[in-house]
Amino acid sequence: MTEGKSCSDCSSGSCSAKGKKQGETDQEFMERQELQRQLCQIKNKIVVLSGKGGVGKSTVSANLALSLAARGKMTGLMDVDIHGPSIPRILGLEGFPIEALQEKLVPATVGDRLKVMSIGLLLRNKEDAVIWRGPMKMGVIKQFLKDVHWGELDYLIVDSPPGTGDEPLSVVQLMEDLDGAVIVTTPQDLSVIDVRRSIQFCRTVKLPVLGVIENMSGFICPHCGKTTEIFKSGGGEQMAREMNVPFLGRIPLDPEIARACDEGKPYITAFAESESAKAFAAALDPMIEKMEGLR
Ligand code: ADP
Repeated sequence: MTEGKSCSDCSSGSCSAKGKKQGETDQEFMERQELQRQLCQIKNKIVVLSGKGGVGKSTVSANLALSLAARGKMTGLMDVDIHGPSIPRILGLEGFPIEALQEKLVPATVGDRLKVMSIGLLLRNKEDAVIWRGPMKMGVIKQFLKDVHWGELDYLIVDSPPGTGDEPLSVVQLMEDLDGAVIVTTPQDLSVIDVRRSIQFCRTVKLPVLGVIENMSGFICPHCGKTTEIFKSGGGEQMAREMNVPFLGRIPLDPEIARACDEGKPYITAFAESESAKAFAAALDPMIEKMEGLR
């Protein structure tokens, strides 16, 4: 459906926003249609998940969004990590002034093809803690989808908090036509066990797993360029094989990535020639090409 068109003019036979659900109030129905009108303008929707925190899920989300934008795709990046929003820091957007226009928030931008919204952009002080319970979290995710000027997008990447709690569940419930999930893990056994739960979560909610990325896999020495396996690598690949989901690739542990994230430099585009950026591209490009119907 195109912008401005109403749900009643829409020809889709399958959209659940066409009719009122049993027990739904007029207000709830109108809100659901408004949400659907926004989502209808977004061609592809991907959620990035991880079993636990600190494995580089936001780093992967940001670099996936950057590489899509670099390919000329209009891209949105929605950070719903309400308790630890790190996307504004990774993309150098801290302090970006968020304004409202016609009762909707105008997202931050990186270049002219990447739009970003994060709770971190709305907090006055970045140390402010957000203490919200489940229904409030669902409320803010719904607002991020419904009340942000995303406009027409080729891709929306959703950076979800770690685990399988309220936020990923809300994302799945609110975005009925999600294309799938990218799951980020590290080689250590524990996070590989945690990631099995994420895969199980996707199966339970019938969300396709687009693939698993093993991040922080081997350390690239900044002096000699040699790779050292700190943890036994390959766990993610083996686990993906066992669980019958695609393995996308390994990203090394590289101090350049950490530095770029801390300094807010868009890693995959600013350091495109580095070995690690090539590893990111090798992991992400085949998935993007598959979604674009190029493979
Ligand atoms: P998560 O979203 O899973 O909590 P982040 O993406 O915020 O994790 O990453 C956690 C920290 O690890 C950040 O400081 C980030 O810069 C760093 N990091 C992520 N991936 C790598 C990597 N491949 N090499 C070096 N540092 C990394």
